[in-house]
Amino acid sequence: MTCKGICSRYKAQKPVGTGRYASGQRRCQICEIFINWEGLWCPCCGYRLRTKPRNLKYKAKLRARVEADAASLKAQTVEAPQVATVAASSSDFVKTTLETAVAEGWTKTKTVEELRKSEERMTIKKARDLVKEAFDAKSEPIAIKA
Ligand SMILES: [Zn+2]
Ligand SMILES: [Zn+2]
Repeated sequence: MTCKGICSRYKAQKPVGTGRYASGQRRCQICEIFINWEGLWCPCCGYRLRTKPRNLKYKAKLRARVEADAASLKAQTVEAPQVATVAASSSDFVKTTLETAVAEGWTKTKTVEELRKSEERMTIKKARDLVKEAFDAKSEPIAIKA
């Protein structure tokens, strides 16, 4: 089965606003051409013609999955660092320590020391950041009032 060049006589133009198969064209895989032909077999090479896109459903599914993956990957990339911060700073130990510190008027140093006892083994920088955040959050409304 080889292309004998006859198919070029039946060559179909790309339709406007619709698909090739939708407008009745058929595809020969051997000749690698879309033709206007009623029969099931290629008039040129004799190979069975395609009347439908192959694996259309599969392709649509695949595309949907790829897009979903890409979207979730994007979401992960964007949100992961934020989620990590929130998770670390919102653990019960950290929260309670910070609340106690603010409520009882601990010094920042003491609060940092307490935070460092956390099972999370946070860095001193992380602890300082959390303390700063908590203390700043507390002092802000006062600053606005004043
Ligand atoms: Zn051909
Ligand atoms: Zn053919």
